[in-house]
Amino acid sequence: MIDRRRFAAAMLATTLMARTARAGGDPFALDGHFEQGGIARGQLPAGASDLRFNDQPVPVAADRRFLIAFDRDAPAAAVLAATGSGGHALRADLAIAPRAWNISRLDQLPKYPVPSAEFEARRPAELARIAAARAKQTLAEGWRQRFAWPATGRISTLFGSQRIYAGEPGAYHSGIDIALPTGTPVRAPADGAVILAAEAPFTLEGNLLMLDHGMGLSSAFLHLSRIDVAEGVVVRQGQLLGAVGATGRATGPHLHWGMMWRGARIDPLLAAGAMPA
Ligand SMILES: [Zn+2]
Repeated sequence: MIDRRRFAAAMLATTLMARTARAGGDPFALDGHFEQGGIARGQLPAGASDLRFNDQPVPVAADRRFLIAFDRDAPAAAVLAATGSGGHALRADLAIAPRAWNISRLDQLPKYPVPSAEFEARRPAELARIAAARAKQTLAEGWRQRFAWPATGRISTLFGSQRIYAGEPGAYHSGIDIALPTGTPVRAPADGAVILAAEAPFTLEGNLLMLDHGMGLSSAFLHLSRIDVAEGVVVRQGQLLGAVGATGRATGPHLHWGMMWRGARIDPLLAAGAMPA
């Protein structure tokens, strides 16, 4: 059980850090969460081109708006650069605040289940479908929106949580878990295009639905009991996508919501803000 007041305090600290990060010279009018797992949006100055985030090209919309995001393990410093209209260099040095992740240290080694022959046989094709979905570029414009919660309830596992087994770090939790009864409606947190709608449960993710929100930003919803939208369909924020379930590897019914931007893992809590009571 997560204490809501602790959450509120964490969100306020986040906002203050974001203000600090914006205080220096910033030709890109950036606004967002300048911390691990955060998203920021900005606008390229008129006539500028060749926007780069840590030397990687960043797509820019016709109105010169763009989005960048900071991975769960992003280093403390990042650079956003572009070429100005007169050929001069534009640059913003970003301080990315580290997060205090929920890390639990256990003395014993993990009890990894022995992968079954069926798992070994099915997994490569599932991973290939997920990779192919992530590679899809759509014209969805959900990346511009303030994200909404796909469902509300008790948060059972935070993004970024990790167990360390006798000094060996396990994989961190790549999304946020909301404990809800099977059948609870799941709604689109922002406009998007359905880039993957599993027609049969995946071994780990179960019934998996993935949305592209444009500009390389995507959402994934795992363990669904039901998927109500088809691959290729465009959905609006708030539209019904399916229902909570416990398909795939899940100990009980819950919604796992993960977000990614061009390989960076994002904290949905920062995208959607405090959950409405
Ligand atoms: Zn999860």
